[in-house]
Amino acid sequence: MDARLEAIKDTVLARNPGEAEFHQAVVEVFESLGPVHDRHPEFLEAAILERLCEPERQIIFRVPWTDDAGRVQINRGFRVEFNSALGPYKGGLRFHPSVYLGIVKFLGFEQIFKNALTGMPIGGGKGGSDFDPRGRSDAEVMRFCQSFMTELYRHIGEYTDVPAGDIGVGGREIGYLFGQYKRITNRYESGVLTGKGISWGGSLVRPEATGFGTVIFTQEMLKTRGASFDAQRVVVSGSGNVAINAIAKAQSLGAVVVACSDSSGYVVDESGIDVALLREVKEVQRGRLKDYAERRGGVTYVDGGSVWDVDATVALPCATQNELDGAAAARLVGNGLLAVGEGANMPSTRDAVAVFQEAGVLFGPGKAANAGGVATSALEMQQNASRDSWSFEHTEERLTEIMVGIHDRCAATAEEYGEPGNYVLGANIGGFVKVADAMLAQGLI
Ligand code: GLU
Repeated sequence: MDARLEAIKDTVLARNPGEAEFHQAVVEVFESLGPVHDRHPEFLEAAILERLCEPERQIIFRVPWTDDAGRVQINRGFRVEFNSALGPYKGGLRFHPSVYLGIVKFLGFEQIFKNALTGMPIGGGKGGSDFDPRGRSDAEVMRFCQSFMTELYRHIGEYTDVPAGDIGVGGREIGYLFGQYKRITNRYESGVLTGKGISWGGSLVRPEATGFGTVIFTQEMLKTRGASFDAQRVVVSGSGNVAINAIAKAQSLGAVVVACSDSSGYVVDESGIDVALLREVKEVQRGRLKDYAERRGGVTYVDGGSVWDVDATVALPCATQNELDGAAAARLVGNGLLAVGEGANMPSTRDAVAVFQEAGVLFGPGKAANAGGVATSALEMQQNASRDSWSFEHTEERLTEIMVGIHDRCAATAEEYGEPGNYVLGANIGGFVKVADAMLAQGLI
């Protein structure tokens, strides 16, 4: 790392102790930014990096609610409003027991660059709670969401901060959150949340957008080597919203997706995952992959283990952070891997990224490859602002244009800085320069 940036990085790490994921996200970005500071000493003078690493505002709050047995439960809620240079804070809410400030800050930090890369007018933020929705009834989830919004509402707004979903927060939760916001504020402010239902201000394609976008980005990378998804053998990790839609899109382009996973195990389905059945098991029944394997029949279910043991030409990690380590990356490379598109946020460890890059594997980092979700959220905001709703075809066309645009910008930036094909460098520099220029123009705030 560049010596000037190393000193800033050390200060950031010391000021934010115990936040390993945030440290990882910061280090990964700083490693790309040396050459930018050679060309733009004004960024150093204006302390852009120090300011970028300090969220504009961090909100932590108590979320009390009662479970179905009438017992009082207490969770912790977060919203980190990281950077508003390009637009209102924008980013999802994650409900998962692993959530703490370090996770929310890593996600919020990544979101700044991701949102800048989309070319849409959105700043970066993220939030969530250590609430675990698994095994909770609809009524419990509703009471939790209502309590969460009873504090959050005062901090958000269509021109201020626009949350959406992430792990553990889908259409059901956004509905309960929106209902409570509307009730408290007495405003039908559609643009305050994205990922809404289609009859009450949501956008077509938003549910599919992250998974579809990841595949579109990966397809663009494959094209640079004269390849496509056609006949690729694909392994996807996860089986939530991002994974399911990545599987659907990859298979529509001619790939065979032979495996996917959940936190208990993975399934190998050599004839290609049955997306309709997977949707029904996961989204309608809220079941597990084991249930998919039982209903599908003739497939292998592996309890525990790593889905990255399955050989593939394309890997799409769509589960969660740090799910793919250096050893898994080496196994995939040994098995003939061609490309990786990250559907999740920071799923590959820094060791894994190094293995992929040394082996010359096409590697699309999450902040570029999975930006289709937030980009379509910005399209939802556009529709809300104009009280319009677009067709599926038109919205998907916009998403495709945006993803191809992100790919091309990352590729062109990597080339400009002398590292053609390095999408990590291209994404980090491309996102950073846009935000840094806007911060410089807006003065010391
Ligand atoms: N949680 C998603 C992400 O990681 C989407 C955020 C949004 O739509 O605002 O980008």
